[in-house]
Amino acid sequence: MLWDDFLNSDWHDWRGTGKSEDRLDRPGWLRAWLKEQHLPILDQPNPHELQQLKELRSLIHGMVTSIVQGVSPDAETIGRLNDVMSDGPVIRELFFREGSLSTGNRPVRWDWQQVMSDIAASFADTIANGETARIRICDNPDCLWVYYDDTRNRSKRYCDDKMCGNLMKVRRFRARKKASEDDQP
Ligand SMILES: [Zn+2]
Repeated sequence: MLWDDFLNSDWHDWRGTGKSEDRLDRPGWLRAWLKEQHLPILDQPNPHELQQLKELRSLIHGMVTSIVQGVSPDAETIGRLNDVMSDGPVIRELFFREGSLSTGNRPVRWDWQQVMSDIAASFADTIANGETARIRICDNPDCLWVYYDDTRNRSKRYCDDKMCGNLMKVRRFRARKKASEDDQP
């Protein structure tokens, strides 16, 4: 999905080194991200657009934080998301692809306002049509990666079981071992 990868541009080292990086500031990150999302490439955003991208990221991140705590977005927040979406007009269309008919929204123009509108729309679509209970923040406090849990029994606690999952298992094991050693006379 467009929105979760975008949110995770605010990166924290899951191994607990305390390192973090705002990848929106890294030259080329957005370009690579657009490519990964199969979207047309754009020039680097100007400082104002970069600021707007970061504001959108904070807005959605705030909504995710509330949602994982079971709080629905309020009217003001919804209004702000709608404002972002209104800056990206689309043309509705019917098209033929891979042997079947589909409908879709084609952007009127292609620029960073449109990208932001698409990100906002992808998030709006997830919270309206997906299951908000599947929106998660990784349980590793050093990681805080945002993801959509698409497992069948909705049991995914970590962004990645092999990385954060194992790390937390090791931490719990060490904490238990230390606690039992401390109990020894
Ligand atoms: Zn994680």
